[in-house]
This record gives sequence, C-alpha cells and structure tokens, in this order.
Amino acid sequence: MVIIVESGADEQIVEDLIGKVRSLGFKPHPIYGVEKTVIAVVGEKTQDKVEVLQTMPGVQQIIPILKPYKLVGREVKTESSVIEIADGLEIGGERFIVMAGPCAVESYDQFAEIAQYVKEAGGHVLRGGIFKPRTSPHEFQGLREEGVPIARAVKEETGLPFVTEVVDVRDIEMLHEVADIYQVGARNMQNFALLTELGKVDRPVMLKRAMSATVEDLLQAAEYVVVEGNDDVILCERGIRTFETATRNTLDISAVIALKRFSHLPVVVDPSHSSGHDWMVPSLCKAAVAAGADGLLVETHRRPQEAMVDGYQSLTPPVFEELMGELPAFCEAAGRVL
Ligand code: PEP
Ligand code: MN
Repeated sequence: MVIIVESGADEQIVEDLIGKVRSLGFKPHPIYGVEKTVIAVVGEKTQDKVEVLQTMPGVQQIIPILKPYKLVGREVKTESSVIEIADGLEIGGERFIVMAGPCAVESYDQFAEIAQYVKEAGGHVLRGGIFKPRTSPHEFQGLREEGVPIARAVKEETGLPFVTEVVDVRDIEMLHEVADIYQVGARNMQNFALLTELGKVDRPVMLKRAMSATVEDLLQAAEYVVVEGNDDVILCERGIRTFETATRNTLDISAVIALKRFSHLPVVVDPSHSSGHDWMVPSLCKAAVAAGADGLLVETHRRPQEAMVDGYQSLTPPVFEELMGELPAFCEAAGRVL
C-alpha cells in the first residue's frame, strides 16, 4: 500500500509516520516527489494495521498498490526517476545517454584505444566486461581480477564513468573501485541473492532483461534491488528469445514503451545483443530513441574481427562516430538532447 502524505505535513510528521510503519512490522520506503511525498509500505497488511495508520497525523490517504511490483511502478511515483551516474551526468532526464565500449576488456592496449574513440565520438559512459558470463564454460570468461587495474587506468585517462558486469556476489567489493554502474546481465536477472546485495551498495545498478523474462518479471527483479534501499536502478531491454533466426535475439521495442509507462525507472536499449549484427545496430539505436528510451548500451571494438567476444555485433570507431553524428537529430525529434 502507499500512504499519501498531506501536503502541509512537516518533516517530523513524516518521520513519525515512518517510525509507526516500521513498528507495525512493515518496510517503509519514503519517496519525496516534487509535488507530493508518499510512503510506500511493503509487507503483509492487515485491516487492524491499516486502521492504525489511518489515524496518524499527516495521512491524507492510504491506497493499495495493485501491481506485483510495488516500489518501481508509477503507482507510487508518477514522475520519472533521474539517476546520477557520475558528477554532472544523469540518466532519466532530458539527456539521452550513450554507453559504449567493447564486450570484454581484453588487454590494456585494446581497452585504452577503443575508450579513446568512444570519448572522442561523444560517448558518455564506457562499457567493458571484466567478468564475462559465457553460455559455455569453455569460452573466455573475461580477464577477471586482472581486468580491474586496466579498467582503473583507462577510466582515469578518459575521465569517463564505467559500467561493468558483476556476475557473482563475491565480486561486488572488488568491482566497487571501478564500477560507476554495476551491470547485472540477462543470465543473472533473477539471481535474487545478487540483486539483494546490490540493493545495499551506493552505486546505480543496470539490470538487463533475461531472454525469457516478461516485462513484469523484469520489474519484479528490479524491486529486489530497490526494496533493500538502492533506488538507482536502470532497466535494459536487450532482446528476447523468439522463433526468429535472422537476429541473435528479438529487440522487444514495445517493452521500452511498456517499461516507461509502468515504471518510473530509466530504460536503456542494447541493440548489440538484441540483434547480433553490427549492420543492424545504428537503425535499432534510432528506434530506441523514437520509443522513448533514456539511453543505449552499444558494443564497439577497434578490430571486431579480432575481438575475443561478440565482434560480429560490435561497431568500428568510424561507424560509431557516424552514429553519434546522426543521433542528435533523432534525439531532438524525440524531445531529448544527446
Ligand atoms: C553484455 O552486455 O556484455 C552481456 C553479456 O549482455 P547480456 O547479459 O544481455 O547477454
Ligand atoms: Mn557482448
């Protein structure tokens, strides 16, 4: 349920309300909006408890949340969430954010070179997998620990924030020194232990939709992070499994529209894993802008044919640069700025 706080209620009244919610055995989750303050209340409710809350000062109204996801839906927060990624860089507002870089950090030279191209072309966030969750255990699993100092050095050189995947709860701490955004991959979308731990960190989490997850599954997975206290979740549509074989996955562009309607969280599109083809990526990026996405996650590589992972879907620097030159007009038409 959600408690709508009376508009004139002062801080003390809100504090007392939160205390009461907690003492009744619920988890309170205050949301301070521009127009109103609400307290989302999570837990098993009984009529008695609701009646107690109804008598509290400052309570304007108590309404049930009908959707299975309680905190990430627009029922509790109508305004879109704007999340700070790094100093002066936000996602979910007017600015359209482009995250780009190789699938995997392969070596210092490879990562430093492509990072420079991403920066020069105007990318906002650098991506690169240090831990790679591969479908086969026999394939390259990422540089792992050895990738951390490389990522740190390249981050320092470019000054770009960095998004990287965390595959295992045990690696959260190690990645904390380099990850400005923790990525949760499609294969881990419902790794609830991982989501719960990421709910306790002070960094944004980018949660990728699993290949066979519905929009509602994705939102409930996001709920696992937010319920622990970390509100900064970015959702990522990265294609789903269908019968289609022309693409690696099928970009569910309507999911972007659905997610933006049902949730206040920012949404990004990954055109690389959803198509599996470099030649499809630029058009899908533009489709993402048109659908109302807040950003992109694009794979780029200096020499895709030599890439250790996902070369066939990675853009070369000239193609990425061309895309970055084309996006402003699409962003403007969609009421955004790059
Ligand atoms: C990735 O972004 O590198 C990745 C592994 O993607 P996904 O989890 O969507 O397959
Ligand atoms: Mn990849």
